[in-house]
Order: sequence, then structure tokens, then C-alpha cells
Amino acid sequence: MDTEQIKAALKTVKFPGFSRDIISFGLVREVQLNDGNALVGIEITTGDEQVPEQIAADIKTAVGALEGITDVKVRMEISQPKQQPGAPDAAGTGKQAASATMQKVKYAIAVASGKGGVGKSTVTVNLACALQRLLEDAGKPGVGIMDCDIYGPSVPLMLGASGRPEIENDLILPVQNFGVRTMSMGFLVDDDTPVVWRGPMIMKTIQQFAQNVNWGELEILVVDLPPGTGDAQLSLVQTIPLDGAVIVTTPQPAAFNVARRGARMFEKVNVPLMGVVENMSYLEAPDGTRQALFGEGGGQITADSLKVPLMGQIPIDVAIREGCDNGIPIVISDPDSAAAQVFMAVAKQILEDLCKN
Ligand code: ADP
Repeated sequence: MDTEQIKAALKTVKFPGFSRDIISFGLVREVQLNDGNALVGIEITTGDEQVPEQIAADIKTAVGALEGITDVKVRMEISQPKQQPGAPDAAGTGKQAASATMQKVKYAIAVASGKGGVGKSTVTVNLACALQRLLEDAGKPGVGIMDCDIYGPSVPLMLGASGRPEIENDLILPVQNFGVRTMSMGFLVDDDTPVVWRGPMIMKTIQQFAQNVNWGELEILVVDLPPGTGDAQLSLVQTIPLDGAVIVTTPQPAAFNVARRGARMFEKVNVPLMGVVENMSYLEAPDGTRQALFGEGGGQITADSLKVPLMGQIPIDVAIREGCDNGIPIVISDPDSAAAQVFMAVAKQILEDLCKN
């Protein structure tokens, strides 16, 4: 029996709510073994007292089960997060800060949809890349994406941002590609882990997640919300200090009802709706004629009823889907394409809208 075997056992101890273990999260600071007596030192930053309790109990079970171990002691060093959610914002931006790590994030906007499969993540990733290009040209800090779509966290794949995020000073560092910093539940939940969490659990995890990512200085954080307009989405938009929201819809006129429910959700929490983006609007044939595969009018009807602009209509384009699958968004791979031009135009409207306030 040696300390390496103890460390191997600690790799089976997951951080509560995550599929990652405490070793890879960088929480284990020391492991000692003396005559069958194991001592494990943990350093953790959390405001939730249940988290260290759970971890200590799990360590005792995992290490205690090893042959030759007679006693397991866990030494916990717990520090409080620097700022709790909802605490007044020290930087004086007038916003309620979600956490100290969001202090240098100037604006946060949400991308939402009434249901899945309308292209919300595709729009998020392409808009983020378009915003990044515009901000880079203007010499401003960049863009981040917080992928909260835990039911289908596809942002890392679409942005070609793979690998595990690093941990530094107990904070998660976002993974960067094309200049866009990304943090996704997809980095933490393994591909084969079914997400069976329900409302309150999701909330706790996302809060923890939001508080522990070191975004650095960002001009805009784009938040990819889980599809739908239920309680989980509502509490999420209450957790993150949002400056605006964009609704993604498809052209079917029936899509209007779901989008309206989404709008009501943002109204409740006083987050201004910036506009509607209609996706999969038409398919352009080589001769230039347009086919409305998924109907017509949904985006305009939604925008009119919400009294916000229809910011753009994104065509159906195989290159968009390929870009998603290859991890190179169309805004990067083919900036002259019709779709990329629409994303750039929407990004410009978002910047103008945010700068007005
Ligand atoms: P959501 O986030 O709303 O669930 P996704 O962004 O994951 O939807 O998109 C679902 C699928 O549709 C993806 O495979 C994506 O590549 C594809 N897709 C999205 N928008 C378009 C488009 N305009 N043209 C072609 N394929 C698209």
C-alpha cells in the first residue's frame, strides 16, 4: 500500500454534481500514509457547506475500502468565495454581480429558444465569433461563451474547443479557440453521462459553475441557455446578470407561441429583449431562387408581437452544419457566405444596442 494507490482511489471521488473527480479538479493538496493511517488534505473554495461534507464522506468510503487502510482522516481547508451571488457589485457598474469572477465581464447576453433543435447553439457560436471579430477590430476585450445547455452541451464541439479546462487558484480557466473563451457543461460531463438532473440540482451546479470560472476581462459573455422556458431557465437568468436576450426561432408561424413564452420569462426578470433571429429561413438553389422549407413568417410575427426587431434571417446551408461538426463556425471558415454576413450584421446590432445603455 502506498500513497499512489490512495490517489488512485481518490480519482473515483467525484465533485458533487459533476462527473469530474477531485484530483482532476485540483482539490487534493496532500496525501500521507503512516502505518495504515491515511491522511488526505483538501483545499476547496465553496459557500456550500454540504459540498465539503459530501467530499469528506466519499473520501472516507473510497480510501477506507483499500486493503491495509485502518483509518482515514480528511483535513479540509475551506475558503469562502470572494463574493456571493447577488452581493452588491464592488466595481460599481450598477449590476448585481453573479460572482467575483464576473467582475471584469462588461456585458452578458443570453441566447434562448422555446424548444430544442432550432439552431440556438449554432447561432450562439457564430454570433460569438462575429462579435469577437468586431471587437478585435475595435481593439476591445473579447468574447466568452457560457454553455449552460446541459441537455446537449454542443458548444465546445462547434467551436473546436476540445480538451479539459485547466484549474488555476481553484478557478476553472475557459478553453479558447478563435479568440473566444468557452466554458461548457460539456467539459465537465462525460459524453456517456446521461444528464438526469432536475431543476434545483441544475441550478446549484450552474451557480457553482458560474462562480468558479475565471473569465478574465471580457467585453461580452454570451450565455447559451437550455432550450425551453421553464423554472430551470427562469432561475438561471436570475443567477447571471444579463444585459439583454436574443430569441432564436424557426420560420414556422406556430413557433411564435413558444417564443412568446420565452419573452415573458425575460420580462419577469427585467432582462430587455434585444431581438429575434430566425434560423433555417430558406434554402437558396444554385439559380438563386429561395425555397421556404420550414414555412415563412415565424421570425417576423414573433418580432412584431414582442415589439423588437427581427435582427436577421439565417439561410439553411450545408456549410453551417458542416462547420458545426468540424468545429470551424461558418463565420470563420467562409466569412463571405450569405449566412456569415447575416451573423455579422446581427452582431453589429447587438454591439450598437449594448453601447446605447
Ligand atoms: P439547438 O441548440 O437549438 O438544439 P443546434 O444549434 O444544436 O440546435 O442545431 C441543430 C442542428 O442543426 C445542428 O446539427 C446544426 O449544425 C444544424 N443547423 C443549425 N442551423 C442550421 C442552418 N441554418 N443550416 C444548416 N444546418 C443548421
